[in-house]
Amino acid sequence: MTVSLDAKAPLTGGELDAVPEARVEGAPVMLRLSNIESSYGPVQAIRGVSLEVRKGSIVTVLGANGAGKTTILKTISGIVDPQKGSVWFEGEEIACRDPDWIVRRGISHVPEGREVFPLLTVQENLMMGAYTRRDGAGVEADLERMYGYFPILRERASQEAGQLSGGQQQMLAIARALMSRPRLLLLDEPSLGLSPKLTREIFEIVTRINREEGVTMLVVEQNASIALATAHFGYVIEVGRVVMEDTCERLLQKEDIREFYLGVKSDTGRGQRRWKRKKQWR
Ligand code: ATP
Repeated sequence: MTVSLDAKAPLTGGELDAVPEARVEGAPVMLRLSNIESSYGPVQAIRGVSLEVRKGSIVTVLGANGAGKTTILKTISGIVDPQKGSVWFEGEEIACRDPDWIVRRGISHVPEGREVFPLLTVQENLMMGAYTRRDGAGVEADLERMYGYFPILRERASQEAGQLSGGQQQMLAIARALMSRPRLLLLDEPSLGLSPKLTREIFEIVTRINREEGVTMLVVEQNASIALATAHFGYVIEVGRVVMEDTCERLLQKEDIREFYLGVKSDTGRGQRRWKRKKQWR
């Protein structure tokens, strides 16, 4: 199936062929954030965020620059300790644990801006992703699997990662994160700085990995069009708070989403978010 990146084209959700909605609807909750508050010194970045991710699903968090998306992922992966609230993952509390401990529990984070090791080769970067593992044969097999999903990385295996294009570095960052065999993958703005064609290519591979490997994903994005076409469920955040949550299929039908996140002009031309005028915005 194909997905249109033209913001004005109607999207219906699920264009990228992820795990079927019906299969994730009844799946158990894998990750739950309850009333999380996180700050950088005096700057409160998230102000009471609650969200859930079901096993096998792709969930997206949408929002403008500075809304708090990255901070949500950093709070889950242990880079930022929340002041309040709980992060529950597969039966245990993980808030404030070390990032290394969280990786070993099965969560891997692809940071914004990729952050590959520029002076290491592509293959060395991939092996760094497997640093928590002791199963040599399994690591070798996973390296092959990654080269299967991202053939360009095999071609560039012995090149320094710093010489790769932005899109190739993004592929490397995703593959490196998958080398720890996560059950939950956190992806921060995978489309950042990439052309529509490359963005689409990366999202297609990500959805294949979700479908074929069953890896659950939480994807933060500013490109609402591709994120809503890919994910099953979405949260919209503004100034550190969740202002809307629904299936992506339903979010795509909402006037506010179409107007403010997909750039589709409304007939009324109000230019004011409905959820700000209503107490109940669902
Ligand atoms: P972007 O898409 O620009 O990355 P975002 O939605 O991911 O935005 P965050 O990066 O989570 O937003 O930032 C949320 C708020 O926290 C913003 O006001 C930002 O300026 C602030 N912030 C983020 N990182 C820091 C930091 N290291 N020190 C101080 N303030 C920060």
